[in-house]
Amino acid sequence: MNLIFLGPPGSGKGTQAQFVCQDYSIPQISTGDMLRNAIAQGTTLGLQAKSVMERGDLVSDDIILGLVRERLHEPDCATGCLFDGFPRTLAQASGLADIGVKIDAVVELQIDDAIIVERVTGRRVHEPSGRTYNIIFNPPKSQGLDDITGEPLIHRDDDKEETVRNRLGVYRAQTAPLIDYYKNVELEYIEVDARGTVSDIRKRIADAIAPLS
Ligand code: ADP
Ligand code: ADP
Repeated sequence: MNLIFLGPPGSGKGTQAQFVCQDYSIPQISTGDMLRNAIAQGTTLGLQAKSVMERGDLVSDDIILGLVRERLHEPDCATGCLFDGFPRTLAQASGLADIGVKIDAVVELQIDDAIIVERVTGRRVHEPSGRTYNIIFNPPKSQGLDDITGEPLIHRDDDKEETVRNRLGVYRAQTAPLIDYYKNVELEYIEVDARGTVSDIRKRIADAIAPLS
């Protein structure tokens, strides 16, 4: 099964993707996590992406499609995958179609800007795994530490309020056109109300995608 999670920053894509990936034994392909790992490792690609990400703008379609193409060659993608935060432009969506990946469903997480800012400014991330917490809504067991490894959590540079507002503008201008694009191709288009608790939303998504498998 191949799924896309579409939604503005902070809508809960990463949080919910982890549940679906566990339930269906498919890998989560988060281009944001891949880029942050490249930056942490100091690769050329990481250096190219760093300042763009700090501003909250989008990394070029060529770089992103190159990363995804390479990732899809790994054996764990053989039975499908969940794309989290990709595609983010119409060019990326058509690039994905050209690679030959058949998408079964797009899950759009719908939420208001005010809630987003509240969620994103409190986000903390375990960078190596991409596990995500929130200091108010989903705190780790020990403050500042990952529940599984005990390693420190980071506060992303681009999770400052002013950068989040830019990212919301970028979402509207460059990513929201994918809503109409995917509503007009043959796949299940699933709209999910992303307000409420993590477990409420988990259930909404699980119920919506169960009939697909
Ligand atoms: P969020 O979880 O808040 O939606 P991500 O971790 O997915 O954010 O992305 C963080 C940043 O990484 C983006 O603001 C953008 O700069 C870059 N990025 C991630 N995925 C893509 C993509 N598919 N295309 C272009 N840039 C991307
Ligand atoms: P995205 O991947 O779409 O950017 P995340 O899954 O990283 O979003 O969630 C953004 C922030 O909001 C994180 O701090 C996360 O812990 C928190 N969060 C996720 N889902 C909820 C929810 N239903 N209620 C409150 N906070 C949430």
